[in-house]
Amino acid sequence: MSNTEEKRVQNVNLPPDKVMHKLVSLAKRRGFVFPSSEIYGGLSSCFDYGPLGSEMKKNIKDIWWNAMTRKHSNIVGIDASIMMNPAVWEASGHVSSFNDPMIDDRTTKRRYRADHLIENHIEKLRRDGKTEQADKVQTVYEAAAGSPDPNRALYELIAGEAIKAPDTGSGDWTEVRQFNLMFQCNMGAVADTSGIVYLRPETAQGIFVNFHNVRESSRMKVPFGIAQIGKAFRNEIVKGNFIFRMVEFEQMEMQYFVKPGTQIESFEAWREERFNWYIAELGLTPEKLHWYKHDKLAHYADLAYDIKFEFPFGIEEIEGIHSRTDFDLSQHQQYSGKNMEYIDQTTGERYIPYVVETSSGCDRLFLALLSDAYSEDVVDGEPRVMLKLSPKVAPVKAAVLPLVKKGEMGETAERFRNDLSTAFMVQYDDAASIGKRYRRQDEIGTPFCFTVDHQTIEDQTVTVRYRDSAVQERIDMARAKEFLATKLV
Ligand code: ATP
Repeated sequence: MSNTEEKRVQNVNLPPDKVMHKLVSLAKRRGFVFPSSEIYGGLSSCFDYGPLGSEMKKNIKDIWWNAMTRKHSNIVGIDASIMMNPAVWEASGHVSSFNDPMIDDRTTKRRYRADHLIENHIEKLRRDGKTEQADKVQTVYEAAAGSPDPNRALYELIAGEAIKAPDTGSGDWTEVRQFNLMFQCNMGAVADTSGIVYLRPETAQGIFVNFHNVRESSRMKVPFGIAQIGKAFRNEIVKGNFIFRMVEFEQMEMQYFVKPGTQIESFEAWREERFNWYIAELGLTPEKLHWYKHDKLAHYADLAYDIKFEFPFGIEEIEGIHSRTDFDLSQHQQYSGKNMEYIDQTTGERYIPYVVETSSGCDRLFLALLSDAYSEDVVDGEPRVMLKLSPKVAPVKAAVLPLVKKGEMGETAERFRNDLSTAFMVQYDDAASIGKRYRRQDEIGTPFCFTVDHQTIEDQTVTVRYRDSAVQERIDMARAKEFLATKLV
């Protein structure tokens, strides 16, 4: 690109706190995300994906699915049901311990996660350079889980440190109570406890209970993986930050079954692959991705890391990578009475495989991509809003814009659009000035605009305008499909 072309685009620096506000408004105005059941006043932490949002979400899921099941010949997919036999959740430990510690503020009537209050307090102490106090609080916090009354221990820590609510500054705390995150519903005509079923809080268990079905039907040999994309439900105490924390969300999970003793090696390989996936396949800014190692491990894990992303509201988890040992398969063996062992046909060894899991949240990733892509700049003196989404993620790949609506130019443009539509999601726009039409496409992240003009009628060429640089070049109309295909690999 020449210097003159570079000068056409000047970036505008936006403070992060403004970005969320602008994103939420753009998401609704342009059909990415709507509040759920909005005409009735909505429902807390529930959202609907609009025409562009559902298209973009589908792209994310396709990219993930292909990275798992196409790139790896030893990973196959399933689509398990959301409701399962309730014994599954007894075995997995969710009925007894899928709890969050909650605490209420009597004055403001607001509810908080006790663990989050303490973790934020520790972080603040560290930021303020009070390392010694932070270490002391951290030690007491870690010991709380093993104390005879963990709720009381958390409460005493909050009261002792005089921790206040981050949003109101109040601290009129109740005792800490445990709150189970699973949604219960009743199956059948009689509403008694015999019909209680749960909405799954994670997709993983649908994979574990199908371990032998998949292995046998697809003739899989350890190591192999099972991938799944699907809805999960959690009755979150603290909701919020738009689609970051929802009660109904979609997970993209893969459980990789390995021989005991090889799990750490496999874990490290998956850790590297998953981190690079966000950069190479989705185009997220590498500097905004961070590792977080869990010091406090879940009861089933022997190693766990999160991939975190720098959202405008803070650095938060988008994917968990867990070495889950043989916990889940062993539990299902015990509760179902079915043997969950694997027999190695070559060596004759029998064992319950260990599991390395990669668990990514589709909605959080969607928000990460939108916030990373949101930018404002000035092109040729005109301000514009743009989503710098990678072409693979962008909901619309190209727009066809005829300079004149009617006559031969309009007809040529429509034929061109119809032809492109057979292979790509394209939009057709013949309303308003060409500048306005470019802006409309920039705002939804369309990477390429094809303009059909007078010259098109003469020599069958169109201009292609690149979103980020606003640079244009002419290409043969007949080459447009091939052009797009090369940009989407
Ligand atoms: P958090 O600590 O933020 O509640 P988690 O550690 O409970 O998350 P996991 O159980 O590891 O999350 O779930 C895997 C992924 O599912 C997360 O990395 C996240 O992307 C997604 N996820 C979990 N809970 C929610 C939610 N309430 N809303 C949207 N996505 C979620």
